Amino acid sequence: ASWPTSGDLRVENLSARYSQTGPTVLHNLSFDIKSGERVGVVGRTGSGKSSLTLSLLRCIVTEGTVYYDGIPTNTLNLDALRANITIIPQTPELISGTLRRNLDPFEQHDDSTLNAALRDAGLFTLQEELDEARITLDSDIATGGGNLSVGQRQILALARAMVRGSKLLILDEDYKTDAVIQATLRHQLASDVTVITVAHRLQTIMDSDKIMVLDAGRIVEFDTPSVL
Ligand code: ATP
Ligand code: MG
Repeated sequence: ASWPTSGDLRVENLSARYSQTGPTVLHNLSFDIKSGERVGVVGRTGSGKSSLTLSLLRCIVTEGTVYYDGIPTNTLNLDALRANITIIPQTPELISGTLRRNLDPFEQHDDSTLNAALRDAGLFTLQEELDEARITLDSDIATGGGNLSVGQRQILALARAMVRGSKLLILDEDYKTDAVIQATLRHQLASDVTVITVAHRLQTIMDSDKIMVLDAGRIVEFDTPSVL
């Protein structure tokens, strides 16, 4: 199979800033996450949680080395990196066109695969709850996702990650559809998919394998929930 074959992540001496001359917001972070582990990240506002997620995708200025499935990510071009690691932000952006195009922009998968991903991600469950008109693969999605609810957009972004086969999924912020999203993460993702969840509610990440606590851009704890 092609790279990535696992969701292993190894971070060595990662520091980050938002511009070349700006202050350092992450200080020398080093940690390992094994393929398939579920990691919750907590810390007060401004502690660096979002900065850490952005650093992993090289969206901000970084020093140090991030190995994803054994490859130093600074040797990859940004397109390759971002095609293989999925970040689900609080309000995912969508492209104009059909739901199918949003799920599978390069037309690499058949409808049954796409429908299965939508079902597994919980879109249809949500639909029943909301008792809305049925959304199909041919439904048109307005630019920016205006005619989908924020919760539906988050679920769609999760379905897209499943279709792509991302081995590393990063969720920033708590989700309106928290229960649907958490159920999908727990029951529908392949067991080798690594999930990093930034959480404000401790309840969201209580059943994580490990919890990372950040404070002022440094890791102060990184252990199993029972130890913390
Ligand atoms: P929250 O819980 O509020 O989301 P956080 O833990 O995600 O907080 P970060 O957004 O990573 O915190 O912020 C870490 C540091 O980086 C803070 O000092 C913040 O001021 C700074 N920072 C965040 N975003 C930017 C930005 N776009 N430009 C410059 N500095 C930023
Ligand atoms: Mg944040």
